[in-house]
Amino acid sequence: MDYDSVTNQEIKSKFVQREVLACFSFEMEAVLKASSNGASDKEYPLPMYEEIENLYEYKCPECGEVFNPDDNCSEREKDAQSVFTCPNCGKVYESQDDLENEPQEIFEWWIVSTYLYRKLKDKGEPVLEWGNNNYWGRTCSGQAIMLDGVISEICEEAVKRERRNKMKATAIKSKAEARQKAIDWQAWQGRRSMSTTEVMRWAEYFRVLGKRFGLLREFKENGII
Ligand SMILES: [Zn+2]
Repeated sequence: MDYDSVTNQEIKSKFVQREVLACFSFEMEAVLKASSNGASDKEYPLPMYEEIENLYEYKCPECGEVFNPDDNCSEREKDAQSVFTCPNCGKVYESQDDLENEPQEIFEWWIVSTYLYRKLKDKGEPVLEWGNNNYWGRTCSGQAIMLDGVISEICEEAVKRERRNKMKATAIKSKAEARQKAIDWQAWQGRRSMSTTEVMRWAEYFRVLGKRFGLLREFKENGII
């Protein structure tokens, strides 16, 4: 997929505008420095460097492959002991401590939406929760955020999911089909917030279907219209 085609850049640009809220680099550096100098308060605690999630990157000492030990961890049948397998060369390590680890270098801090925070965390990006905000420690700099590989991946997944979940006012041919459509619609709309115009448009769609297939009462009882 060409992540940086004109259309995809537009989609990603909107995505970043929506999910990345503000730059916090200077402030986070200041706060982390203060906390490492012991300047924290019981009631208003400062974030600590050690609280940054996914800060460390694990490397296979044998081949140099960087991988997430959690994703490559399995239990050995005999002694139920956790082992870590390098996805590249297949070498098995008895303990996470046998892997090389290095803190990733964070160049920028950004306040991000809870949604993006979760996705970045899943992708192994350095993140931090503090107060009411979620922060992303960006490990690159000097290019637009929407060009970051991890942002392209997350955005692609979001677009695919939206497409899958799209509900269309399709033509309905039978009573059973109309009933199923109403059930699907109810489950779908429960997961999103709709504008008044959208709600009215859907109510009209189901009113027409209800009239045609004798389902008006049923739809009313189930809160469809
Ligand atoms: Zn390896």
